[in-house]
Amino acid sequence: MIEAVFIDRDGTLGGNGHFIHPKNFELYPFSKTALELLKNNRIKIYAFTNQHRISKGEVSLNDFLVEFESYGFDKSYICPHPMDSDCNCRKPSPGLLIKAAEENNLNLKNCAVIGDVGSDMIAADKVGSIKIIVKTGWGEGSLGLYRDQWQDVTPDYIANNLLDAVNWILSFNEMRAL
Ligand SMILES: [Mg+2]
Ligand SMILES: [Zn+2]
Repeated sequence: MIEAVFIDRDGTLGGNGHFIHPKNFELYPFSKTALELLKNNRIKIYAFTNQHRISKGEVSLNDFLVEFESYGFDKSYICPHPMDSDCNCRKPSPGLLIKAAEENNLNLKNCAVIGDVGSDMIAADKVGSIKIIVKTGWGEGSLGLYRDQWQDVTPDYIANNLLDAVNWILSFNEMRAL
């Protein structure tokens, strides 16, 4: 059973895969429904995102916390460090997932990660979580031109978008509840 889902922001929840300030960020039309479906099924939802512009002072950590709270996320896991940082929390490192598991008493094997790029999938793979890549944002490129950057990882499901991913999770759980 999948008990919690980690969801990437840019290109997965909305936007175009590039940085957009929280005050201008728009969810895809189906994203609200997708998040509500998870909550209604008592699956925890955690934001899982790299936001290096926090380190440049272009946006604050709190701006993102407020944004994710407004979408109904249970908690946000954000790497604020520069792109060239050797921190252990910037995806593809799994540091944020490990931290979340400790804080929320999760078995990461019973968690899913949904994202649009290879680094989302690599982070999930390192801790044995279920991997779902969406075709929105950078998804098509990640599955095509950039597939070699994560060639050792096989996603569990390729979803058209976040709602498709969530429906797959719900049927995954239904199958295991029988
Ligand atoms: Mg993304
Ligand atoms: Zn970091």
